[in-house]
Amino acid sequence: MMPASAIDEGVAAALASAIDAGWSGQVSWLQKLVRFDSLRGRERPCQEWLAAEFGRRGWEVDGYTLADVGLADLPRAAPMVGVDPAGSVQVVATVPYSKQPSGGRSLILQGHVDVVPTGPADMWRDPPFSGEVRDGWLHGRGAQDMKAGIAAMVFALDAINAAGYRPAARVHVQTVTEEESTGNGALSTLARGYRADACLIPEPTANTITRAQSGALWFRLSVRGKPVHVARSDAGSNAISAAFLLLQALQELADRMNGEAAADAWFGNVPSPVKFNSGRIRGGDWASSTPAWCEVDCRLGILPGRPVDDLRREVERVVAEACAKAPYLTARPAEIVWNGFLAEGAVLEPGSDAEATLGAAHEMVLGAPMEARISTAVNDTRYYAHGGGMAALCYGPSGKGMHGFDERANLDSLKTTTRILALFIAGWCGLERR
Ligand code: ZN
Repeated sequence: MMPASAIDEGVAAALASAIDAGWSGQVSWLQKLVRFDSLRGRERPCQEWLAAEFGRRGWEVDGYTLADVGLADLPRAAPMVGVDPAGSVQVVATVPYSKQPSGGRSLILQGHVDVVPTGPADMWRDPPFSGEVRDGWLHGRGAQDMKAGIAAMVFALDAINAAGYRPAARVHVQTVTEEESTGNGALSTLARGYRADACLIPEPTANTITRAQSGALWFRLSVRGKPVHVARSDAGSNAISAAFLLLQALQELADRMNGEAAADAWFGNVPSPVKFNSGRIRGGDWASSTPAWCEVDCRLGILPGRPVDDLRREVERVVAEACAKAPYLTARPAEIVWNGFLAEGAVLEPGSDAEATLGAAHEMVLGAPMEARISTAVNDTRYYAHGGGMAALCYGPSGKGMHGFDERANLDSLKTTTRILALFIAGWCGLERR
């Protein structure tokens, strides 16, 4: 039995050689994972493959869907529009351990398998889900965000096993969906009762620890117009033009929030940390008719500490005021449909044992202290930090191109991160001979 925290040099060397020995298998495993086009609503085959992979390792697997957890009754659930919760499969695997009091601390390792759309495939060098390996990079949508992280956490445990050990405390390996749209996958694991002394989510942070992260709100602006022949367009109203007025008002709201952000403890030095994005637009039916409808899917950031409901009310007020100024929208104001994220920001308070243990593992492998990052994007750690009441670490490998073209995971970084996670598990949970 190796006690928690003290990471023995001999054990570290054994873990490093186990990772080297399993390396080609790890790369081809990640290739398989990337080749699943696990876009939102299409994650089931990927999750079933992972459940089988976890079962093959002797881990106890709990597979369920979001329909099984009563989302409607969960206070922090976000609305899912156009996606069937019954098709959204979650996997929680529990690694066997002796259940004897060992002084080790329990751990949740979590990754998300949902990936964002690829955009036009002809703008990619390789087909978007190729899994192609070239010059030390593994290519494909989701390779960086965050299937490489999943490979790191799974193969860190494999290395511990291959070296003849197992964690001396309970470890849950969780693969979830909905990270890119609502967070309901992560939330469901808490609703199902999974808890631990710490949680680590290996998002692609390029080996920095996430100190603070913004939240985000998703909403759809639904604007109606009055269709007439374009020859008499003054008599009609153009829903697409009207939508642009509303987008401008929302950008001004984001600008005001960015002005206030200068005083924020964590985001004060980040330029324009509150991001507003109109991400998808549809509207109109015919080039020679004034459009009768326009829908814009929007995303607005929110800094830690501000309640989500407070910003929701402000968005509603800003849109109502902009409608009141546009003659054609006073009679029929735009509707706001809350259709995804209602995510607050989060902060990892410095000084936790979990962060110190991860920092020690990082330094042992990379020879330099672990640095912190401030993120203007959302990730799932917020649920564990707030609802779960545990230290929630967001730390993982590096890559390029996430949410863009030619997304790829850096394989050197994957190997390094796998070693760091193996040492972190050893330090946090302790190891026992299997
Ligand atoms: Zn991610």
